[in-house]
Amino acid sequence: MRKFFYSSRNKLDQHFLSDQKIAEKIVKNLSFKDYNTVVEIGPGLGILTTYLLNICDKVFLIEIDEELISFLRNNFPLSKKQIIHKNFLEWSPEEINLKNFALIGNFPYSISSQILFHILKYNQYIPECVGMFQKEVAERIVSHNDKKTYGILSVLVQTFYDVKYLFTVDKNVFFPVPNVMSAVLFLKRKKVEIFNKDLLFKCVKISFNQRRKILKNSLKSFKKKITDFYNLPFLNKRAEQLSVREFLQLTKEIEIRK
Ligand code: SAH
Repeated sequence: MRKFFYSSRNKLDQHFLSDQKIAEKIVKNLSFKDYNTVVEIGPGLGILTTYLLNICDKVFLIEIDEELISFLRNNFPLSKKQIIHKNFLEWSPEEINLKNFALIGNFPYSISSQILFHILKYNQYIPECVGMFQKEVAERIVSHNDKKTYGILSVLVQTFYDVKYLFTVDKNVFFPVPNVMSAVLFLKRKKVEIFNKDLLFKCVKISFNQRRKILKNSLKSFKKKITDFYNLPFLNKRAEQLSVREFLQLTKEIEIRK
């Protein structure tokens, strides 16, 4: 086990949590309401896994590092099928026919946005998620309009999930110690009306790519006939001023006029 601590494995963002109390505190947030299966992203040496297995036996681990996979196979009473050697970003729940599960993990920070986009892609299967993020990223995810930290991630994640900032985690509880502080978030899926998901993603991205412009102008390139719905009051606002609900409404208006 020690060799993992001392080898240089930074490219995989490996910062192992060493505080058992924090591990327990993270896992305890899973509600098991309407699901009984949990998928852990990047279990590493299994500090969260240990607590997870105390409360749930339908656990799947997805880990990219082959050495850690052998470590997990040797140390946890899980079947071969449950310990998956894969890049989470290339994994689909459909591969193992999972239709309803929670996600948990101390996420590899360099790909945390991509992890979130992957969760949003499969949100119909994922009612809940408890995850550790870099603190700044966590703050962006829970941010609201009119705040500097509000952006694409805030809007898209909050469209599909109610988000809650649970607690901040100090650098010193990891080995090796990272350069950044961390924070744990809780995501609970919302009931959203069916609408055009691709269109929402495009619309939000384009709006924030030119965040200083009012939407009327930034959306021109994307929607030539944007003049058709100039009567929408929020088109005179900038992306950072628009609430999550208004972005949803905007997408619906565009969809209707297609
Ligand atoms: N959960 C452990 C490890 C956190 S470090 C703990 O709390 O101690 C992040 C983990 O994610 C490492 O084990 C790393 O190998 C793994 N990882 C990095 N990129 C990954 C990816 N794309 N898919 C799956 N696992 C990944």
